[in-house]
Amino acid sequence: MLDIPYDEQLKRKQRNVERLLSGACKVQPVTGMEIPFHYRNKVHAVFGFQKGEIISGVYQEGSHRIVPVKSCMIEDEKADEIIGTVRELAKSFKIRTYDEDTGFGLLRHVLVKRGFATGEIMVVLVTASPVFPSRNHFVKALRDRHPEITTVIQNQNDRSTSMVLGDKERVLYGKGYIEDELCGCRFRISGKSFYQVNPVQTEKLYGKAMELAGLTGQETVIDAYCGTGTIGIIAAAKAGRVIGVELNPDAVRDAAANAKRNRTENIQFYQNDATAFMTGMAAQGERADVIFMDPPRSGSTEEFIRAAAALKPSRVVYISCNPETLARDLKVFKQFGYRAGECWPYDLFPHTEHCEAVVVLSR
Ligand code: SAH
Repeated sequence: MLDIPYDEQLKRKQRNVERLLSGACKVQPVTGMEIPFHYRNKVHAVFGFQKGEIISGVYQEGSHRIVPVKSCMIEDEKADEIIGTVRELAKSFKIRTYDEDTGFGLLRHVLVKRGFATGEIMVVLVTASPVFPSRNHFVKALRDRHPEITTVIQNQNDRSTSMVLGDKERVLYGKGYIEDELCGCRFRISGKSFYQVNPVQTEKLYGKAMELAGLTGQETVIDAYCGTGTIGIIAAAKAGRVIGVELNPDAVRDAAANAKRNRTENIQFYQNDATAFMTGMAAQGERADVIFMDPPRSGSTEEFIRAAAALKPSRVVYISCNPETLARDLKVFKQFGYRAGECWPYDLFPHTEHCEAVVVLSR
């Protein structure tokens, strides 16, 4: 939506959230960004070969045609520079880019993640095979050009899939993860674990989520879909105890390390499907006072909401990156006796159609 003035984008998002949540709850004015550019701390580029040139960029919508990108107004500028250097080095090292149709070639994708608060930078080179000729020279040349890179990872993805990352990882340089700071806590992020892409806005969003939770220091809190444990660890300072549940094993490993790093002792993480885990808790007669939930774009499920209600929390703080599934899930919550209070939208994704929001529900 770069051709639409930012104010107008915000108005559109406001109207869209209001339309979707009409009848469910009051919607507060959306919080936009002061400088809505270069906010993405994670940049992904798919590599390919066109007209005798190595190119990198994004897939055209609904296809696997690569649209070359040299710089992008929403991406971190340093990340774009690094990806440009990888393009040049791939040429001078005669590294072939992977061809999806024939299965030949090595370099498939490059992922750059940057901790805005710490300046740490991770580069993930996704290759089709484990064999990476002159790997060490390549990494050295990359670091010579960008001494600010703190870790380099080779990720092997030999499957014909649209997933960017494969399962196998090899750390080529540094500690294999980066750190960043959010709401006064420090978080480690590895190649495969989820981390919000707009940390400036995320701080505001999580600050509001904490306020809406109204914790006093006594509560039993669940952080469902907890990723690397960000919300739970921030909440733990104001709660009795926190239980985090997350499906991705890498994220759970990061979450446990993050709890230690922040000296948070009243938190425990479980690697499980959030619904299965909470259904189990409810079956054992356990309760929770506050549930934070931050599901992926597809939203939550009726089964999850049933389990959440069975734990009888007085409040549920729902953080959503998709107002459509949020609206759907709020209707289900209503059937289980939970009414939505206020919705606070935050623009985490300027110049795109996406919008984040946090809603508090009470029993
Ligand atoms: N709250 C975290 C992550 C939110 S993203 C943060 O703010 O950083 C959503 C997370 O839900 C992802 O980490 C994803 O791996 C996880 N997830 C997806 N489906 C899940 C499920 N069924 N059970 C538990 N976690 C799930």
